[in-house]
Amino acid sequence: MCVASGMRRDLTPFSLAEPGAAIPEGVCGAAVRIPASGVGTFQAIARTIVWPADAPDAELSAIVPIAHKLCDLVTSAVLADGAARGENTFCAPGCNFCCGYVVAASGAEIDFLLTVLAGLPAAVREPAEAFWRDLQDELERKGITVLLDVAASRDEGWGALGDFLQTRGLTCPLLDGAGRCSIYAARPVTCREFYSLGPAARCIALDTPRLERPMSFNDVLVNLEARLGTREARMWELPTIAQHFDRTERPTFPPAHIAEPFAALVNKSPISD
Ligand code: SF4
Ligand code: SF4
Repeated sequence: MCVASGMRRDLTPFSLAEPGAAIPEGVCGAAVRIPASGVGTFQAIARTIVWPADAPDAELSAIVPIAHKLCDLVTSAVLADGAARGENTFCAPGCNFCCGYVVAASGAEIDFLLTVLAGLPAAVREPAEAFWRDLQDELERKGITVLLDVAASRDEGWGALGDFLQTRGLTCPLLDGAGRCSIYAARPVTCREFYSLGPAARCIALDTPRLERPMSFNDVLVNLEARLGTREARMWELPTIAQHFDRTERPTFPPAHIAEPFAALVNKSPISD
């Protein structure tokens, strides 16, 4: 997806220790290891999630920046693996047709995005929120309510929303005036994991071959949500994020209750030994 310098905010009590780093005394840790099996020259990624011993309870979404960092490490390794076989991605800065696709995000990421949005300058946040509210109103006026609860009919709802956006030429409102992502550092896993092995013309024709990945951090986050029982564990369509704007219920957990099952889920990914 499109590239921009993006913003950075410290939204989590968690951090990642480098492989082999000593864990400071008084700090807890949960190991994450993504072994080399299954994907050619894929490099092992070993990290330990650390957090201050006196860290207060945190929302599930606090783990999302860690998921993003690990997701990017996996992407780098998969891209290097593909390049070694002569397989190259066509994605480049400023290329952004895919930002008109229906992007989906786990509940943890929706909550994370709401926090990110709240920290954006009003000049970016307000038009984006207005876009999503107007879009939701229009969807409801058109009776496309299946989109608001698509668990039972995902394909139908997904296709209808895709057609709705495409026929109106609507793209993600977080694209800035230069066609770049205004939250690049915090963009969702779906945006981070989507790479085309064909030119943008094929993306426009909706028949692009995509970079295959051995695992998706969307699956990890949805399964983490199911383990913790925070809310309905599913993916949500980003264009319908306005329905979450007024949500106030955000349960919190001791950091270990988030990081340890997260690490276990990553380690149980399909490429684990
Ligand atoms: S090549 Fe396709 S997937 Fe890649 S950035 Fe361009 S439009 Fe998006
Ligand atoms: S958040 Fe929006 S603008 Fe940013 S990469 Fe994803 S779809 Fe594109």
